[in-house]
Amino acid sequence: MKNINARFLGGAEEVGSLGLYMEIDELRLLFDYGLTPSKPPTYPMPAPPMDSVFLTHVHLDHSGMIPRISTEHDVNIYATQPTISVLPLMLNDTIKVANIEGFPIPYTKEEVEGVMDNLIPVEYGKPVEMGSLEIIPHNAGHIPGSAMYELRDERKILFTGDIQTVNTHLVWAAKPVKTDVLIMESTYAGREHPDRNETEKLFIEKIEDVVSRGGVAIVPAFAVGRTQEIMLILAKTDFEVWLDGMGRFVTNLFLQNPGYLKSAKKLKKAKNRINIVRRRSDRKKALRGEVIITTGGMLEGGPVLHYINHLKNDTRSAILLTGYQVEGTNGRLLMDEGILDLYGVKEKIDSEVVFFDFSAHAGHSELVEFARKCSPEKIVLMHGDSREKLAEDLKNLGFEVIMPKNGESFVI
Ligand SMILES: [Zn+2]
Repeated sequence: MKNINARFLGGAEEVGSLGLYMEIDELRLLFDYGLTPSKPPTYPMPAPPMDSVFLTHVHLDHSGMIPRISTEHDVNIYATQPTISVLPLMLNDTIKVANIEGFPIPYTKEEVEGVMDNLIPVEYGKPVEMGSLEIIPHNAGHIPGSAMYELRDERKILFTGDIQTVNTHLVWAAKPVKTDVLIMESTYAGREHPDRNETEKLFIEKIEDVVSRGGVAIVPAFAVGRTQEIMLILAKTDFEVWLDGMGRFVTNLFLQNPGYLKSAKKLKKAKNRINIVRRRSDRKKALRGEVIITTGGMLEGGPVLHYINHLKNDTRSAILLTGYQVEGTNGRLLMDEGILDLYGVKEKIDSEVVFFDFSAHAGHSELVEFARKCSPEKIVLMHGDSREKLAEDLKNLGFEVIMPKNGESFVI
């Protein structure tokens, strides 16, 4: 790796639309190609011709524009098996949401099918040979199948994608990899997470509260990762739990790839212990239960709105948010103003609303610690809207830090 020219096509300065294009000697590689699932969605810059694509994980801000690549470039796309299994579900859901909301649709169902022909499975620790390079996927600890990519010849580069450096119930934490250049996400730059065990305890106590006063706890959760983590937390309790939304299908797909779970046995047990909404009439039963885990995580759509609509005037019930609510989303509106857009009508919500931080990203100090243990010469910060705060701490530790802008060429 003598000459490396790199350029972010998106996602350098924001949490969304990530794409990193790298020219390494003769080789042209693309790492991730996502969209920002805002309303309307936003997209990265068009990708120049490339030889191969490496996908870190299936979340839309990393994978959402992959069909454009396979349609225009017909190249191999490397990803782990869980990513490959869940990808069509996510991409087809993007088309569905665009249809419902009346947004332009970035690709067709046929193009999503076309992606499947180009996907090549990779495994943690097994190098992919590419020219003079070895590219090695490592566990990123973020969701099942999430990968960091280590590029190796006489020099080393590590591209993290999204990372979590603390063990969760669902997956093992990411481990640092010694590298010369570290290209690291910075979603939580400047922000720390509360203690995980404490958060879990408060979460369960809150549900006990809600149930004892005769209410229902609605737990909106992202389909990929968060739903399964919450299922595992609730597996230890005796509540009557119901599961609805896309998380049901994703759970099954994860269970088909047991090697990527911390304990497939526990997830299977958690799934068997809860009630799954299979038909419309089950939704009535769920509303008479105690806890409902359902998509969408930011209340932008999905069955969660159906449940909230039923319980919006019930002061005994509660909405327990389990993920970060992005500015401009329905979930954020609920947190800030206690109102929600329900099928086009803004309504006041009387149920209690509580936020629990079950993030799948490393917090500020954890990112600093991770970088220190990778001991790179140079750090490239990406995928964050407050990178400066992280850069400052890393510079104080003696690291050279760069923060490229979208579209700007840089040399590493
Ligand atoms: Zn992610």
